[in-house]
Amino acid sequence: MPDLSFCGLLKNRTAMAKLPIIIAPDPRLKITATLVDKVDNAVRKFMDDLLDTMYAAPGIGLAAPQVGVAKRILVIDLAQKDSPPAPLQIVNPELIWTSEEFESNEEGCLSLPDQYAEIKRPKSARIRYLDQQNVDRELEATGMLAACLQHEMDHLDGRLFVDHLSRLKRDMILRKLSKLDHSDGNDHHRTMSTV
Ligand SMILES: [Zn+2]
Repeated sequence: MPDLSFCGLLKNRTAMAKLPIIIAPDPRLKITATLVDKVDNAVRKFMDDLLDTMYAAPGIGLAAPQVGVAKRILVIDLAQKDSPPAPLQIVNPELIWTSEEFESNEEGCLSLPDQYAEIKRPKSARIRYLDQQNVDRELEATGMLAACLQHEMDHLDGRLFVDHLSRLKRDMILRKLSKLDHSDGNDHHRTMSTV
């Protein structure tokens, strides 16, 4: 079983975080994001900011609701440290197939700093989405990418990885987070989210 922490994996990249990341519990993480009409320059600019924010955190996936934007947009980069960046910019993703086989992976999230749990999801998934040129595309993913995609797509429907846990475990994690001192801002949490 691979040990993966999706939004919290250290990427060792240097970039400025442009957008503040929302920490749970927060009602803005519970919304259902709306479809993007068209991938235009404004959406492309936002996706670049989202990527910069993700690299700076550092993380390997980030969804628009995590920075307070209720749109169906997410970015992912699973490139290994010291490899060139390989960003995926995904708009209006739709799950069109998932495998019957499931897999458990350890997940973390930039919106739940320092919290990790084993989450079981379909091992493979196929999605349809719009790319940064507003072109319809399909992508079939397995393993880490499939899990990361499903994790980020959950954010678009107001679901966090802890929502896949028992109520007891979820409440324990959220209680811990609400007791954290937020007074020194997000930088504190971003530092803590590195693994
Ligand atoms: Zn997340």
